[in-house]
Amino acid sequence: MKSSSSSNSEDYDPENDPFFLEETPFFPVADGDVFSPGFGKFLIKELTSQGYPLPAIIDGGMHLVNTFENEFVDDIWSKLTKKVASNVSRVVVSLASFKGEERIFACTGIFIGCSESNTRILTSASLVRISDDENRINDNLKIVVHLPNKQQTVGTLQHYHLHYNVAIVSIKGFRCLRTEEFHDPGQIKCKKVLSVGRVFKSGKLMATGGILTDKPSKLDCKELMVSTCRITKAGIGGPLIDFDGNFVEIRRGEGGQLADRLLVALAPQGSPETMVKAVAVLASSEGVKGTIFFSQEGDGPTSVTGSVSGLKPGLHGFHVHALGDTTNGCMSTGPHFNPTGKEHGAPQDENRHAGDLGNITAGADGVANVNVSDSQIPLTGAHSIIGRAVVVHADPDDLGKGGHELSKTTGNAGGRVACGIIGLQG
Ligand SMILES: [Zn+2]
Repeated sequence: MKSSSSSNSEDYDPENDPFFLEETPFFPVADGDVFSPGFGKFLIKELTSQGYPLPAIIDGGMHLVNTFENEFVDDIWSKLTKKVASNVSRVVVSLASFKGEERIFACTGIFIGCSESNTRILTSASLVRISDDENRINDNLKIVVHLPNKQQTVGTLQHYHLHYNVAIVSIKGFRCLRTEEFHDPGQIKCKKVLSVGRVFKSGKLMATGGILTDKPSKLDCKELMVSTCRITKAGIGGPLIDFDGNFVEIRRGEGGQLADRLLVALAPQGSPETMVKAVAVLASSEGVKGTIFFSQEGDGPTSVTGSVSGLKPGLHGFHVHALGDTTNGCMSTGPHFNPTGKEHGAPQDENRHAGDLGNITAGADGVANVNVSDSQIPLTGAHSIIGRAVVVHADPDDLGKGGHELSKTTGNAGGRVACGIIGLQG
């Protein structure tokens, strides 16, 4: 679909062309106004034939100004050197999100990490953003990735950051040969840049030129540079490169490299390489036993899984105690782990001991399964629980609300029926 006003490049005036985004931030952002007055039958046909959903606001006289298959008008892909074109074509993919058969969004992405088991693609969060709620995503969408080898595969949303409008999609079973490296524009002599996109349906690569500017980006992030490249929606999420094919990074500012910041923002739980694991083997003289596993990725919450058997059916207080000392059985493991000097509480309470993991519930068979995630029991750092103890109590933890004199210190959970020291696991 092309507009008559944009078909003649001689007369081309971007100011009057609703088809193009005026400026492309480092990560191009959809303008949000997909529809404008004058929605016609042709456009309905256009949309449905390409599998896109019809807008919910047709009766408002709206019309589509830009489909996700629009090619760049001033496409200069054919003018790139063979080396640049070949390198770029290996890292640029197109992605589309589907709800059932219905296509929701399509855009461009780039490989940023390749390994045997997992390839990561950096793209726009618009792929999964809910169109009428810009602060939420739909995590039930199927993400299809059109690979450089013309194959298609299904991707998994790994991380996203709606403010920076970026997302990371991972795919399996395809090992990319090359990833884009981030470059400091300070080292890039030329301010002329290219925005690269790939059309989902045909897989066609496109490029359009522009200049990096000092204008602040619409994203309210001064470290993001803005280019004058005019792209279509199909190019959203695509990279800005220089004419040598270098991926253009934003200026270095007080916040350091954007790439680092984005990847940190996108991966709040760290990378799999930073996974720490621990285990506690619980034992007692009363026949209660079990194994509790802990794992934590980066600075993320700690996941606690496992089971305890030989318990009286019902609730049992379940805590991390301060000491890994079992010289006098579970009695010598000290009080609940409480590095910030708070009162006893429930896991979800603001005021709680770090070690307060609430209750586990034993069934009629005396077995309690554990599967919780908690942010106050890290496996690294000053408040690490490594070397401390897990304790299972005889009675329910009243979570600090029982009104008993022990409620605010132990939850009145009774005796210690089993415990184990939390040790690092490989
Ligand atoms: Zn406590």
